[in-house]
Amino acid sequence: MSDCLFCRMVSGELQPDVVHETDDVLAFRDINPQAPLHVLVIPKKHIATINDIEAGDEALIGKLYRAAAVIAAQEGVAESGYRTVMNCNADAGQEVFHLHLHVVGGRRLRWPPG
Ligand code: 5GP
Ligand code: ZN
Repeated sequence: MSDCLFCRMVSGELQPDVVHETDDVLAFRDINPQAPLHVLVIPKKHIATINDIEAGDEALIGKLYRAAAVIAAQEGVAESGYRTVMNCNADAGQEVFHLHLHVVGGRRLRWPPG
């Protein structure tokens, strides 16, 4: 059993509300959504933060963005617009230390973020 919350979702020990899955990535609805659409896209491989992305992970990171595009189309926000965010460490407010791409949309989003 892993200590990592998102690894426990990948293993099937926990069952989030999955919206998209491939061999390499899993995407599920955020438990505390900040917009009508708020999905987290994670690599199935455990990578703690952006700082831990290694040479060889480039294609995997690209797959997170490809998944975001598929989900945006599936959820009907591709044309209206959406935002992808990946927080790293304390100043960005990272709470879960397994890489995740937030896909947020379905309402007008403010910029810059606070
Ligand atoms: P971070 O702040 O690390 O960028 O984002 C972590 C995200 O994970 C938050 O938006 C939070 O609501 C979400 N989250 C935390 N625990 C769970 C959980 O058990 N299930 C789901 N689906 N999302 C979670
Ligand atoms: Zn993990």
